[in-house]
Amino acid sequence: MKTVLIIDDDADCRRVLGAVLNQSGWQVFHAGGGDEGIEMARQHRPRVVLCDLLMPHVNGFKVCRELRSDSALRQTAIVVTSGRNFDADRRAAFEAGADDYLAKPVEPSKLVAALARFEVNDVPLPPEKPVELPTRISGPARLKFWGVRGSTPAPGAGTVEYGGNTSCVEIRAKGELIILDAGTGLRLLGRQLTEEFKDQPLHLTLLLTHTHWDHIQGLPFFQPLYKPQNRLRILGFEGARHGLGNVLSSQMENPFFPITLRELPANVQIEELKEMKFSIGRVRIEACFANHPGICVGYRLFTGEGSVAYFPDNEPHYVAHAIDARASAEYVQSPERKIVSFLRGLDVLIMDAQYDRAEYQQRIGWGHACLDDVVALALKAEVKKLYLFHHDPDHDDKKISEMVQEARKIVRAQNGKLHVDAAREGAVVELAGVAQAAR
Ligand SMILES: [Zn+2]
Ligand SMILES: [Zn+2]
Repeated sequence: MKTVLIIDDDADCRRVLGAVLNQSGWQVFHAGGGDEGIEMARQHRPRVVLCDLLMPHVNGFKVCRELRSDSALRQTAIVVTSGRNFDADRRAAFEAGADDYLAKPVEPSKLVAALARFEVNDVPLPPEKPVELPTRISGPARLKFWGVRGSTPAPGAGTVEYGGNTSCVEIRAKGELIILDAGTGLRLLGRQLTEEFKDQPLHLTLLLTHTHWDHIQGLPFFQPLYKPQNRLRILGFEGARHGLGNVLSSQMENPFFPITLRELPANVQIEELKEMKFSIGRVRIEACFANHPGICVGYRLFTGEGSVAYFPDNEPHYVAHAIDARASAEYVQSPERKIVSFLRGLDVLIMDAQYDRAEYQQRIGWGHACLDDVVALALKAEVKKLYLFHHDPDHDDKKISEMVQEARKIVRAQNGKLHVDAAREGAVVELAGVAQAAR
């Protein structure tokens, strides 16, 4: 029996193609979306799946990958249809497992001819593809700074030492590769991963603190998203006004970017976090709300070789600075106590230290920190190593180095043991080394 399943969100298109194939003796099934199509393919095991590429929710690339990962569907051929005829789409479709690619509008005679080669049942089947296991991430727990700047990228001669890209930190631990925020530094990480792993399948997790521009703008330029064998889980909390998926896809909509999020060949899953404690693989993670406009969090990751907390945007003492002086001390100190207990005993703290004391006086309530407050917080929480982060775009290398000296002076004045540095693009920190140095 010649059976074909047409998966297309355009009902007219399904009707026209279905009628043509019906006349040529095919029994036709219809599905109006990727999810439904995958389910029907598993149920009916058709000889051919005719699948549109650009569908909301689950696109054609994902349908191809799902069907190809199901050994019960080895006899099923996949013919992709698309209103576009870009070479990149065609290549990505074949890589995802398609057997043929037809550009829309499909001429009836061409469609019948294309499917005719699958009519005979004894066509040699392609060898079964081994299931692609994700590439193993090995080595000691470590972090690498890919973007350390706050607010907006700041390239130029004055920022070459610390770097001009916005927030992005990579953590490798317990077999996981976790990316903290997707600022413009993410582009460099993508290049590095492509060079290091070539075409090996990668399963990556991106943990977002919030969706301000400087934390998401690198996403469209992340090379691993353009390979169908890769998978990226994006985790974050729902924003104050829009869901996480909405915010991330809207920055890639026309007229801002030529390729939408759902058209990316890689498998991208966006998941909104509901709990403040969760795990990525064997890495335990805790979240804590930051003092920053909208919904913004910081994360603490337990890597087994040391713990890291990442608070790129946070104004530690905002409540204390801004609140009515008559409010009780208990109430004023409560948010600070919460964050101190969250950070207690940490090995590495990466924290917003955007302004010096004088600048901060003009920017109270903007959601970013004063250097002195951050050092005081790290001392109180008995943190081992503090990396000043989210450097102001108007601060040049000299200014940042002066702020490091100033921070160290504050620590010395209190006989503290805290080590302070400024986060620097490209710097690698071995977590076991931090814990050892503090002993
Ligand atoms: Zn920021
Ligand atoms: Zn922000």
